[in-house]
This record gives sequence, structure tokens and C-alpha cells, in this order.
Amino acid sequence: MIHIFPDYYEKFTCISSRCRHSCCVSWEIDIDPETHSLYQSIPGALGDRIRKSISRGEDPHFILDKDERCPFLMSDGLCEIIKELGHASLCEICAEHPRFHNPLTDRIESGLGLCCEEAARIIITNKEKTFLVTEDQGKAPRSTDPVLVIRDAMLSSVQNRDLDIRSRLYASLDLFGASVPENDVRALADLFLSLEQMDSKWTELLISLKENAESVDLDAFDDFMSDRQSEYEQLAVYIIYRHAAKSSEVSYALSSLSFAVLAYELIRALGALIYQNEGSFDTESQIMLMRLFSCEIEYSEENTDYLLDILAP
Ligand code: SF4
Repeated sequence: MIHIFPDYYEKFTCISSRCRHSCCVSWEIDIDPETHSLYQSIPGALGDRIRKSISRGEDPHFILDKDERCPFLMSDGLCEIIKELGHASLCEICAEHPRFHNPLTDRIESGLGLCCEEAARIIITNKEKTFLVTEDQGKAPRSTDPVLVIRDAMLSSVQNRDLDIRSRLYASLDLFGASVPENDVRALADLFLSLEQMDSKWTELLISLKENAESVDLDAFDDFMSDRQSEYEQLAVYIIYRHAAKSSEVSYALSSLSFAVLAYELIRALGALIYQNEGSFDTESQIMLMRLFSCEIEYSEENTDYLLDILAP
């Protein structure tokens, strides 16, 4: 099986103690069967603590503390299991996060998830066009799978830098016969407020967007962002690459393009709101915004499935 990933994939290293939104806080950390067996054999006090920290039941996971932190996340932000037992003792989800893997018919495609702030930093600050490579860094071969053919054509279309980002996203929708629903600012805020929300910061942002829907100056923000269009291009490429090939249906692939445009519309409007309120919106603010979007929407199967469903052509 050929292994394919975006050219930035191997740049990722967890920034652990410097991470402001650690994946060891608030997220349920499932323990795979192999690691679960390993943890049964670890001797001494640490082994006892590990076993006591695992929930009993069908899906074993670490029981988070009262602050929703993994019990092995130390105060300096480092992992006690790595420190005492080494990387090889991590459960699969901790060892792999934020990497994702999509097994397809003739290949495995991997990438970095935007929900991790360091992964988001690597993806969003890439000014060059992202391209797909194989393990030896050679260009990924073209596939004859109809879904991948259309996915790769959509990626080329949203990377067409002859057009500004907005024009090229809407030209792509036209080209592939996809669409997005009514997308004025209030309708966007209402749509995302109707979805499941996890973080109160996300809800507050959406409510504020709705309250200021008529006064958000999108044109002024577009001018401000004119030399940072690659941030939105990378977002669109990330979404299409990650989601288009999850189903063997071409219509699902087209929904991923609509999902990318809808994500762009929302993140642009929220960026404009922050810019208007704070007088600035730097790349770090963009990274945090896209990270939050990813956690709330993309990493919620319920939210992503709902959007891909209503966006189907
Ligand atoms: S979110 Fe990313 S950078 Fe932060 S602790 Fe997790 S893997 Fe590391």
C-alpha cells in the first residue's frame, strides 16, 4: 500500500508544555486493547495508578480529573507516562494525535488534524501550495479512482492563484456543480448555532457574530487580509483532502468542497468580527480560530455528518 500525505506532514512535533490547548485536557482518551494489556503488566506504584485511572466498561479510557485533565498530564505540561515509561507505552490515540489516516482502495492517506494548535500553525502558515507526496517525498501518483480524480481536480481548482480566494472558491463550486446554502452573516451564525457546541468560547463568538451581523464589515476585512489569502486556501485544501474521499460516492466528495466554502465563509466572518472588535487579527489569531472551528465542527462526527449531508448536491 502506498502511503501519501501533504508535504508538511513530517514537520509536526508536539510542543507539549508550550501548548495552550492541550489535547490532554477535556478530550476523552480511549485506550486501545493492545495498550490496555500492556498497562495490566506494568509493575509498581505507577502501574497501580494507571490501572486505577482507567474506566471500567466497554470502551476503556482514562478518567479525567476534576479540571478535565488527563491524570498523567503533569503541571509542567509534560506526560508522566512518556517520562517514566517512554513513548512506546503511549496508547495509540496519544501516539498518533493529531495525525489522521484514511485507508483507501490503493493507498493510505494521512494528514495532520487542524484541531491541534501546532498542526494548525504548520498548515496555515504554509505560504506555498500544498502538494501530496509519497514517503520518499516523490509526487503522489494520480489515482484512477473516480472519487480521487474529482478530489484532486477540486484541490487544483482551489489552488488556482490566478483568482483571489473568494472568486476561486465560488468558481470551483460552479465548475463541479456544488453549492452552499444562503450565506449572509446572520444565516451563517444561525446555522452554526443550531449545531452541537462544546466550548463556551465558540458559542460566545457565534452569538456575537449574530448580534453584529449587520455591522460586520467584510469588505474592509477582505482588504486587510488581501496578502494572507493562502491561509484560507490551506483551510480549503485541508478540508477537501481530509473529507472528500471518506466515501466512495462522488456526491460526498462534492459536499466536501461545499463544506470547505462554508468553513471559509464562517471563519472569514468571525475573523472580520474579531478584527472589528480588537483592531487587529494576526496569523496567531487565525490559527486559534481555525483550531476552534476544527474542534467544534470537524472533530464532532455529528456536526460534520450533518453539514456534509445538507450540503450534498
Ligand atoms: S494539541 Fe497538539 S501540540 Fe498540543 S499537546 Fe496535543 S498534540 Fe501536542
